[in-house]
Amino acid sequence: MKILFCASEVVPFAKTGGLADVAGALPLALEKEAQEVVLVMPAYKSLKSLTQPKIQKYKEGILRCTIGKAVKVYFIENDAYYNRDTLYGDKKGDYPDNLDRFSYYCRKTLELAKEIGFKPDIVHCHDWQSALIPVFLKTVYLKDEFFKNTKTVFTIHNIGYQGLFPKEEYPKLGLDWKYFTMDTLEFYDKINILKGGLVFSDIITTVSPTYSREIQTKEFGFGLEGILSKRRQSLFGILNGLDYSIWNPETDTFLEKDYSLGSIEDKGKNKAALQRLCGLPVKKDVPLFGIVSRLAQQKGFDILADAMEALMQLELQCVILGTGDLKYHEILEAVVKKYPKKISLYLKFDDCLAHKIYAGSDIFLMPSKYEPCGLGQLISLRYGTIPLAFKTGGLADTVTKENGFVFEKYSKDALIKIIKKSIVSFQNNAQWNRLRARAMKSDFSWGESARRYVDLYKNGTISD
Ligand code: ADP
Repeated sequence: MKILFCASEVVPFAKTGGLADVAGALPLALEKEAQEVVLVMPAYKSLKSLTQPKIQKYKEGILRCTIGKAVKVYFIENDAYYNRDTLYGDKKGDYPDNLDRFSYYCRKTLELAKEIGFKPDIVHCHDWQSALIPVFLKTVYLKDEFFKNTKTVFTIHNIGYQGLFPKEEYPKLGLDWKYFTMDTLEFYDKINILKGGLVFSDIITTVSPTYSREIQTKEFGFGLEGILSKRRQSLFGILNGLDYSIWNPETDTFLEKDYSLGSIEDKGKNKAALQRLCGLPVKKDVPLFGIVSRLAQQKGFDILADAMEALMQLELQCVILGTGDLKYHEILEAVVKKYPKKISLYLKFDDCLAHKIYAGSDIFLMPSKYEPCGLGQLISLRYGTIPLAFKTGGLADTVTKENGFVFEKYSKDALIKIIKKSIVSFQNNAQWNRLRARAMKSDFSWGESARRYVDLYKNGTISD
């Protein structure tokens, strides 16, 4: 089948989070399942510093390269929109012209498909930035012969980000006002782009089975639970996979020393190197907790911030890599100032350091309040770094007592309690080795999930 894959960030071209990992890996996994995939994304500034793969000009306003065997990636150029240091916003918040930026991307993507004669059987869109594509297909392009047999699949990677804009911007979309209703794009008198994607797509998916159920409830649906439960026959949860060609401690070029389960003692060399790098005392017997995350309440930083003082009284070390809410930057900076020998903080996005933290830590903290799928826990499992997670969404589907630590009440006290439990377990060598072996053996590769997507593309449902 011909799949037009539309995402606003894709590894290795641009990344702010898990969407980019998925959009970089799933097309390659689909190619292995004999699907023909064309990917389209904006041409961000980050492309300029990329040496591989080689990106070339395709025509005015369009760049192109190939990944995998023959997956063509097209980049929509518009320097005024995309030639910026960051993808969606800066310190002041979201870019004020985000509606212009991403409606442009959506329009151009459909025009490009026609120009290159790629008649998709499926257009697979991801998150609000590409959600106008299914909207345009079912409105502006409804009678267009070219897309006559095209079906749309829309994947929610995080329903907390919906693309909300003042209704005064609606004319920019070029859509009739009849689509600005409670049943279409309107949401409490604003434009809700994600909602448009959910209403106009043929199939909706999200990135774990548990999250697909959660988003149909008031607690997790961010106001869209009604639409989602109405469309539950067309809503499917498919767990994200992990690209083990990138995330593999046996071949990871960012590490001090590569390792596997068979040479697990070499993981200790990565721990010592990480401790040195972070200015923490090099101690084998003190558990090192790692965090690689957006610094947002969603990721559990509210209870973590409250727990910090108590945690700093325990025999542990902690290294945190992340950016996000200024509030958490400040709280964590204050903790580091007080306990510089126990906690180390990097307020930036740094892929190389992320790899070092996944490898060098003993325990990976992921107390997310909600988590559509989560990749951090999958990466840490492969690196023998035991995940400690709140039982929600994709974390509930992947972290168990068999391979990690799970807490079930979202509170500071429950978090402290499970961290204490993990420390006791860490101190029991035999128990820890067994836990780590089970973690490293868990398999979250893309194959099975890619086959589920193909099933959906072909049959509109998943057969098992
Ligand atoms: P998100 O909700 O942010 O998408 P995921 O767990 O699905 O969360 O994916 C996050 C991805 O981004 C992982 O690959 C993680 O390693 C990476 N990541 C998050 N923050 C940083 C950072 N500050 N530096 C480097 N990588 C990061």
